[in-house]
Amino acid sequence: MFSFGTRNVGIDLGTANTLVYIDGKGIVLREPSVVARNTKTNEVVAVGSEAKDMIGRTPGSIKAIRPMRDGVIADYETTVAMLKYYLGKALGGHSSRPYVTIGVPSGVTAVERRAVIDAARVAGARDAYVIEEPFAAAVGAGLPVMEPTGSMVVDMGGGTTDVATISLGGIVSSRSIRMAGNKLDESIMSYIRQKYSVLIGEQTSERLKIEIGSADVEAAKDMASTTVRGRDLVTGLPKTIEVLAEDVAIAMKDVIAEIIVAIKETLEETSPEIAADVIDHGIVLTGGGALLKHFDTVIAEATKVPVFVAPNPLDAVVIGTGEALKSIDVLKNN
Ligand code: ADP
Ligand code: MG
Repeated sequence: MFSFGTRNVGIDLGTANTLVYIDGKGIVLREPSVVARNTKTNEVVAVGSEAKDMIGRTPGSIKAIRPMRDGVIADYETTVAMLKYYLGKALGGHSSRPYVTIGVPSGVTAVERRAVIDAARVAGARDAYVIEEPFAAAVGAGLPVMEPTGSMVVDMGGGTTDVATISLGGIVSSRSIRMAGNKLDESIMSYIRQKYSVLIGEQTSERLKIEIGSADVEAAKDMASTTVRGRDLVTGLPKTIEVLAEDVAIAMKDVIAEIIVAIKETLEETSPEIAADVIDHGIVLTGGGALLKHFDTVIAEATKVPVFVAPNPLDAVVIGTGEALKSIDVLKNN
C-alpha cells in the first residue's frame, strides 16, 4: 500500500519536549522543544538540548526560542525548522517522505490543528494526521481506551495540564489548564527571589523542582536541601544559597492546588458510570509532571481515588501516537 521505504512516524510536539517514534523501531529521538536562532540572519544556530543549554546565556546576536506555547504552535516558522531538523535526524538518510501522526491538545481550535498539519507537511511529511494528546497519553500508558469502561488520565507537561476521561475509543470529558511545569518553575523562581533576595534562572529553578520538589509540603519537611547559584539582588553579585525542599514545596503549592481543582471538576462532570470506573481503575498520571514527588499521593488524598504514575510518563504521548500509526488508514478517513 505504501511506496517502498515510506515510514510511519509519530511525533509528540510538546511545549517542553519533542519525541519521535518510528513504526517498527520505537522512540528514536527525545529533545527539548527549543531552537536557537541568529537574530540578525534568522539562521538556525542550534536545535534541542544544545539550544536549551543556551537559554539565559545567549549573546545579543543569538536568541533561544521555544516555538510551542501551551501545547500549540506559537512560532510557526521556528516550529517548521525544528520539525524538519528532527525528522531528518530521526529518519537518517531515509529519503522518502514519511506519514506523520502528531499529538495535539484536546480542545485546540481548527486553526491550531491546521497549523500543526501544515507545519509537518512543510517540514517534509508526505501527509500528517493529528491525534488528541490525552487519548494518545492514555494509549501510551496502557489504559483500556477501546473498552466500554471509563479511564482517567492527567497529563502534566510544560505548558498545560490536560485532564480527560476516556471510554470506547473517545474522549468523554476533558479540561486543559495553563498550569504545569513552567508555572511551577516560575513560582519557585519568584519564591526564592522573595525569601532570599536572589534571582535564579529558569534552568536552575527547573533543577530545584526535579531534584527536591514535592507536591506535599509536609513530606518536604523531611527531604534534603540543595545549593543553587543566582544573583544577589542587593549586591548584584553571584551568590550561592541553600534552598530547602520545603521552600520549593511552598512555592509550588498554589499551582498544585489549581491542578487538583481541575481534576476534581472533571471527575464531577463525568457520568456516574464513568466515575465508578475511575474509582475502580484509578487515575493515571503522564507527562514530565507525573514524576514530581508526592504528586500522586496528594491527588489521591484530594479525590479519594487511587492514583498511578504511568510506566514511562514522558514517553506516553509519543507511544500513543505510535500505536495510532497502526491504524493510520482509519485516521486518514477522518
Ligand atoms: P510537554 O508535553 O509540555 O513537552 P513533558 O511531558 O515533556 O512536557 O514534561 C516536561 C515537564 O516535566 C517540564 O516542565 C519538566 O520540568 C517536568 N519534569 C521533568 N522531570 C520532572 C521531575 N522529575 N519532577 C518534576 N517535573 C519534571
Ligand atoms: Mg505533552
